[in-house]
Amino acid sequence: MEPSALEERYARVKAAIPAHVKLIAVSKTRTVEEIRALYALGQRAFGENYPQELKAKAPQLPSDIEWHFIGHLQRSNVKLVLGIAHLIHGVDSERLLDELNKRAQTLGRPVDVLLQVHIAQEETKHGFSPEELRTRVQEPGFAEQWPGLRIHGLMGMATNTGDRAQIANEFAGLARLFKEMIASGAFPGRSFSELSMGMTGDMDLAIAAGSTMVRVGTAIFGERD
Ligand SMILES: *Cc1c(COP(=O)(O)O)cnc(C)c1O
Repeated sequence: MEPSALEERYARVKAAIPAHVKLIAVSKTRTVEEIRALYALGQRAFGENYPQELKAKAPQLPSDIEWHFIGHLQRSNVKLVLGIAHLIHGVDSERLLDELNKRAQTLGRPVDVLLQVHIAQEETKHGFSPEELRTRVQEPGFAEQWPGLRIHGLMGMATNTGDRAQIANEFAGLARLFKEMIASGAFPGRSFSELSMGMTGDMDLAIAAGSTMVRVGTAIFGERD
């Protein structure tokens, strides 16, 4: 049988990703059937951007799917994603950390998160500024403020530009910050180990810069409507 277009695109993406980098298939706006087709090819980690969409789709799909919440999360929507999301990538403020921590304590189990860092030259991307994080982690007990959370690393999005040198530079800056965070000792234990960066247009640059997780939609599923 001829491989399907999905099968071909998926194989191509997987071939471009080294074994130590995790592939998260970004399934926002995709139907449950499209997700099921990729699941049938072996993919288990999927990324969603919108709380309502995640909440609606997850129960219709196999329970061994690992859902990554990769969008902007409003505090009022935290309850929609907790209990479903395996990892929340876009935690972009201390107020959101506070809210997640409160909910995690109610839930009675730790919640796994990444801190989103603003690395792009764009107003529209969310995140902590690198300077802010550098300053805050110097303060004693920084990460202990949120005992209900496990902060596993950093996430970032490069500027949406055709300037590859700029993108490479932004990823290199995030990778540098990631190493500094580890060296700071502010996140004790070994679990601060994930650097989520890279999507369809820039995953090669992200991997070269040290990404441990790429979030890829278009290259797998085709163009979004
Ligand atoms: C949509 C999205 C992606 C995937 O984008 P593609 O260009 O389709 O690969 C990755 N990360 C985030 C945060 C997104 O919103």
